[in-house]
Amino acid sequence: MQLALYNTLTRKLEPVSPLDQNTLRFYCCGPTVYGPAHIGNLRTFVLQDIFRRTVEFLGIETCHVRNITDVDDKTIRESQKVGMQLDEFTQKWRTKFEEDCSALNILPPAHTPSAVAHIEDQIALIQKLIEKEHAYTDGNGSVYYRIGSFADYGKLSRLNLSGVRQNASERLNDNDEYGKESWQDFVLWKAWKPEDGTNKWESPWGSGRPGWHIECSAMSMRYLGESFDLHSGGVDLIFPHHENEIAQSEAATGKPFARHWFHSAHLRVNGEKMSKSLGNLYVLDEVVERGFSPEALRYLLLSGHYRQALNFTWDSLAGAESSLKRILGFMEGIDTQVLENSDYASMETSFFTPVIEALCEDLNTPKALGALNGVLQRLKGLDHGDQKPIRRDLARVLHLLGLPLKLEKHSAETIIPPEVKTLAHRRQKARSARNWEEADLLREALREQGWEVRDKDGGFELKQAGVNA
Ligand code: AMP
Ligand code: ZN
Repeated sequence: MQLALYNTLTRKLEPVSPLDQNTLRFYCCGPTVYGPAHIGNLRTFVLQDIFRRTVEFLGIETCHVRNITDVDDKTIRESQKVGMQLDEFTQKWRTKFEEDCSALNILPPAHTPSAVAHIEDQIALIQKLIEKEHAYTDGNGSVYYRIGSFADYGKLSRLNLSGVRQNASERLNDNDEYGKESWQDFVLWKAWKPEDGTNKWESPWGSGRPGWHIECSAMSMRYLGESFDLHSGGVDLIFPHHENEIAQSEAATGKPFARHWFHSAHLRVNGEKMSKSLGNLYVLDEVVERGFSPEALRYLLLSGHYRQALNFTWDSLAGAESSLKRILGFMEGIDTQVLENSDYASMETSFFTPVIEALCEDLNTPKALGALNGVLQRLKGLDHGDQKPIRRDLARVLHLLGLPLKLEKHSAETIIPPEVKTLAHRRQKARSARNWEEADLLREALREQGWEVRDKDGGFELKQAGVNA
């Protein structure tokens, strides 16, 4: 079986396979860390996780990179509002994001580079663009990309720039950008302004900070090479963010950037766009506070196809929770640890083959869940002995979908205190850096606070000592 996925660049379904025949290298635009991710953002990250799990299930190794946007107007403005240093502020929201991902069973990427930690790479890339005359300084310490210098500009979004006019409000608001040759050119390096406070970095053009688009070009090429397999994000990123990434990267290297572009549609709430002003922007904590499990949210987020907007309602979440409970009813009384460790041999002849086939057809998660429920419905009548191998395959399928083998309780008593989570994240970081000594010390520190940590799927699980959840 092979995964066929819609490619925004070619507007066609295309097989996904690694360019180097070995490892599928892919980049996902990560969160801007100035507050908790909303469940729409989380939809995008869950879909990227399903993509990765499907590829790995098919026996292909992956190298998954997801950045952290930790410097931009919003992070600077919000950190100043609460009187925190930018790095302290973004670290807080980065940790929260990682916790949410772990609660939703999203596999941790191989690399999670942050923009601030890669300023030098971004400066080097901008310099290259200036040398090749794809970029210019405005004489006031900012650098812009010269869109007219890149003939392929618009190939991803299929935007005809000659038909696009600058609107009046943009014209009024661009006082900062009067040094641009064309209003369509975009910023690569922003000169420091007093409202940026202490948030500035030195560059050949004076102090300032990088623009948003350049960070993803620099970090993806740093970890995945100049040409790689796939790039992903929500549909709102197609233009201008991804269009600009292609322009920057391909103009600098003269090589194709990402081969495949995977974009997911938005989550809506009660039929409307999720937005702060409408007050319908939900975060994972609220889902849990209302008594739902993060896994039920994951199930719900998988119940729509990624190329269509999905409408969130609390009723649909309740429906997802009961569907998931019904499925997990089949796993009752099973030693799940034995199943988790069993090897994932070929599933081509399993009852569950249609589930995998559905995922291979453009990641059709609703069809996959429908197939899964259909199989379980038919198997209900089988006696206990016959169900054993089926349950083993079911465990594999649940793993593929990133669903749990049983539901954890998310009652008030099992809410994990933030300081305990922070210790566990520090331990995970120490383990990734192979700093075993520190990891052991942190495990002890967790024990002293009454928590046991167990490594799971490259992440971790916390249990209160003496409690069997
Ligand atoms: P941000 O933190 O705003 O940089 O966004 C992180 C990711 O969430 C990006 O891939 C966005 O395209 C995606 N995103 C933003 N809003 C939504 C939404 N309502 N539904 C699904 N994905 C979204
Ligand atoms: Zn990006």
